[in-house]
Amino acid sequence: MSQNKQTLSFQAEVAQLLHLVTHSLYSNQEIFLRELVSNASDACDKLRFEALADNGLYEDAPNLEIRIDFDKDARTLSITDNGIGLSIQEAIDNLGTIAKSGTREFMAKLSGDQKQDAQLIGQFGVGFYSGFIVADRITVESRRAGLPPEQGVRWTSGGTGAFEVEAITRPQRGTTVTLHLREDAGEYLATWKLKGIVGKYSDHIGLPILMRKEEWKEGADGQPGEMVRTDDWETVNQASALWTRPKKDVTDEQYTSFYQQIAHDHEPPLAWAHNRVEGSSEYTQLLYIPSRAPFDLWNREKPAGVKLYVKRVFIMDDAQALLPVYLRFVRGVVDSADLPLNVSRELLQESRDVRAIREGSTKRVLSMLEDMAKAEKDETASEADKGRYARFWAEFGAVLKEGLGEDYANRERIAKLLRFASTSADTPTVSLADYKGRMKEGQEAIYYITADTLAAARSSPQLEVFRKKGIEVLLMADRVDEWALNHLHDFDGTPLQSVAKGAVDLGKLQDEDEKKKAEEAAETFKPVLARLKEALKDKAQDVRVTSRLVDSPACVVAGDDGMSLQLARMLKQAGQPVPESKPVLEVNPDHALVRKLDGSVHFHDLAHILFDQALLAEGGLPEDPAAYVKRVNALLA
Ligand code: ADP
Repeated sequence: MSQNKQTLSFQAEVAQLLHLVTHSLYSNQEIFLRELVSNASDACDKLRFEALADNGLYEDAPNLEIRIDFDKDARTLSITDNGIGLSIQEAIDNLGTIAKSGTREFMAKLSGDQKQDAQLIGQFGVGFYSGFIVADRITVESRRAGLPPEQGVRWTSGGTGAFEVEAITRPQRGTTVTLHLREDAGEYLATWKLKGIVGKYSDHIGLPILMRKEEWKEGADGQPGEMVRTDDWETVNQASALWTRPKKDVTDEQYTSFYQQIAHDHEPPLAWAHNRVEGSSEYTQLLYIPSRAPFDLWNREKPAGVKLYVKRVFIMDDAQALLPVYLRFVRGVVDSADLPLNVSRELLQESRDVRAIREGSTKRVLSMLEDMAKAEKDETASEADKGRYARFWAEFGAVLKEGLGEDYANRERIAKLLRFASTSADTPTVSLADYKGRMKEGQEAIYYITADTLAAARSSPQLEVFRKKGIEVLLMADRVDEWALNHLHDFDGTPLQSVAKGAVDLGKLQDEDEKKKAEEAAETFKPVLARLKEALKDKAQDVRVTSRLVDSPACVVAGDDGMSLQLARMLKQAGQPVPESKPVLEVNPDHALVRKLDGSVHFHDLAHILFDQALLAEGGLPEDPAAYVKRVNALLA
């Protein structure tokens, strides 16, 4: 046989990952068993799925199971499944490379800080390679279902640079992973220890996990007795898929560990919902909201995290059709009673049952969020419950906002879940309802401003009059805000109004005196405005006096129907076409600099400086920065 032995190198990323695994995950060694049992269970799921089309794949072993065994003398621990198995090529491909996309991005995220990296690795799912946390050599023997016994494979590696593969004869289908335990990992050669780990992480696996029964043997002639292992096997887990059990039979710990396994997350989830839905479409859903954003949250192309089962048979991971994109942070399982077992991704998009599941799951997630949000204001809620929605919002709020444009049917529910920072709140804790509740007598709109950062929003000159009058303004700095807010024209009958767009109309918030003053100013300034317009005709669409400024001489705003300057900038940065639209310059008739304009010999330069400064104050840049500097310097000199 040895002539067919090949030595191959790991893909560079695998070698790197292996190094990290053995060094970073050391504090949580025991998860290796969870990962290997999970792989064994996946392999059985795959067999069951392929056997739908070819029943012969079951051969003479139709009962799928996982066996855990060990040999104290040889210091080996083995996990055997009778699932789909691996061909030689599959062993080379799957155990020598990382097939998952995004590996490079993931590697780039690693910081070198062990604790942080361990979390990230857990999230990414180290899977098979976690065996090397406790083993200095791993041997995998396998035969793929449907292949003859001579086409078995032995894969073996010490987990450094390379692995070996050779053909072997293996009568039984499926895979045995044998770990040659390190010196310091002897504790895993004990039944009670292994049972404990299985109970903790793998109890919910829907297959029997078997271990040898132990018996007490009396010691002869006054010698101490001992436990001996027998040839009888017993099932050591519950062996029914967690979501198929009645809620009352599942503990919080079990829900949590199930989540940690399917989501590859060390942290417990923030919330979950487990329901059996009956009606026109019948399905079970177990949906979780994580407490932390995954590293690839911003990839909208990324598959969603919900697994699809049909009548307990695993069909596919990442079933994107089960939830809208803006809920891509949700993890969990949907098990349908109606879908055909051979459902394909294409079919999923069109299925009426899937549509019903998608609508039902969306509603369920929104009500989970509403419950968390409700606890914020509930006096009787625990401190931990009160803080949960804020944690959710900090991690996923910006993603949820996408729903305003994406999910018309649920827009109002989503709007109620939004949280913003404002001129009276440093952190995003203000809901639109809170804002409405605090609106001033006579205030007719919900005011907001968008900027690149919250700090820039907070110090924008456009807020001056609002601050003076004590009117709250919502501050927004997420990239998605501009776009999302375009889809939300009003909240509960009150329009949303950007303070950086169009002329300010404070409506009833302005008293008669102020209005009269403003009209007079507009009148007396007419000739100056006309000259400004002429001087700035290439830059500004219009020049007008404003009552929105208190301390600043001028500001730029978008025209009433123009795109906001912030959005235009964002699109430009993203290389998108931006419709040509000049801003409006607004001047403060009470400001000394503006008053000085009339009669100044520097009128032309002052006009341009005023305009360029207004751009700067709003987070933009003068079109010709060098010319701006020159003008300012000329005046300074
Ligand atoms: P993941 O399971 O997340 O894909 P792993 O590193 O755990 O990543 O495993 C890599 C691949 O090796 C799996 O996708 C699967 O194809 C294969 N594999 C691992 N364990 C088994 C097993 N017990 N039986 C069959 N294939 C397996």
